[in-house]
Amino acid sequence: MRPQLHPSLSSAWRDPSTVQIGATTGQSHVFGGLSPVEGAVLRAMDGNNDLCTLRDLATTAGGSPDTVDRLLELLIPAGAIVDRDAIPDDDGPLRQSLPDRVSLSLLDRSLDGGGTAFARRGQRRITIHGAGRVGASVARLLDAGGIGDVHVDDQELVTHADVSPGGHPADGVGIARDRSLHRFLDDGPAAQDSTPPETDFAVIDSAVCAEHPHHTGAYVRAGVAHLLVKVTEVTGIVGPLVVPGESACVRCLDLHRTDRDHAWPMMLDQAGRYPPEMPACDASLSAAVAGLAAGQVLAYLDGYDVSALNGTIELELPYGLPRRRSWQPHPDCGCTWQ
Ligand SMILES: [Zn+2]
Repeated sequence: MRPQLHPSLSSAWRDPSTVQIGATTGQSHVFGGLSPVEGAVLRAMDGNNDLCTLRDLATTAGGSPDTVDRLLELLIPAGAIVDRDAIPDDDGPLRQSLPDRVSLSLLDRSLDGGGTAFARRGQRRITIHGAGRVGASVARLLDAGGIGDVHVDDQELVTHADVSPGGHPADGVGIARDRSLHRFLDDGPAAQDSTPPETDFAVIDSAVCAEHPHHTGAYVRAGVAHLLVKVTEVTGIVGPLVVPGESACVRCLDLHRTDRDHAWPMMLDQAGRYPPEMPACDASLSAAVAGLAAGQVLAYLDGYDVSALNGTIELELPYGLPRRRSWQPHPDCGCTWQ
């Protein structure tokens, strides 16, 4: 092991015996009362020295070799240390994902620089239904986030209205949406038919994918977790993230709305049959919604509780401040019945 103060965290000395590692609320720790020997060992934790060398350094400086172990017992649980030996050299294709990997390591406080967590994402397959502005961007973000197989299920032709930064490029206009994105997605084969493949997770843009009621029902029955996302008028909505049998599903939300507004099913039906002639989808809003959606998916698959479980996150122009609405499973839905 070659300990290194986490290369993604700032470290600053408040005085000769006090160091602060990290700058933000969830990541910063202050270690005070450090002796000159401990300070010297800490400074030598730069990824170049193994444990033997550090213990020798502590002894030479007039301290005990145990100083190294005592410091590591403090620093490792705080997420302030990585093991340089566990982090691959950043030559080649791994270099592009380095910021994502070290971000993961700040969350899980792993010694390996996030390598294991990132590799776990590489085993996942996610299907995107509806690859307009939002869905295309979600697909590319999930790919950048390390998802091994991002499968786009959308054979509609790309229109000029679908082109956006981070989504479909301008030269994709006129070709199928899945094929337009294929060049950006590692190992994501363009679909040969519209049958949803075996998948670990699905993202469904209900504003773009006309078959969204079919997909949400099928995924609930199949026990596959899925996230709804859409931009309607000047509001972007991320959620609910449905874990079948555990959290509120799309039908639960419709039943809650029907309780409050008996005309809701008729409204829903007509909105589906007569969509707006010119759907609005602000490019900045769609990028924000896509980023939020991809972040929720990745965090959920990484094992974290996320805000879109039993909830929706809404972003409205021009304010842009995310607002969470809570939704519980509806007693009449049956999706969480044992
Ligand atoms: Zn339900």
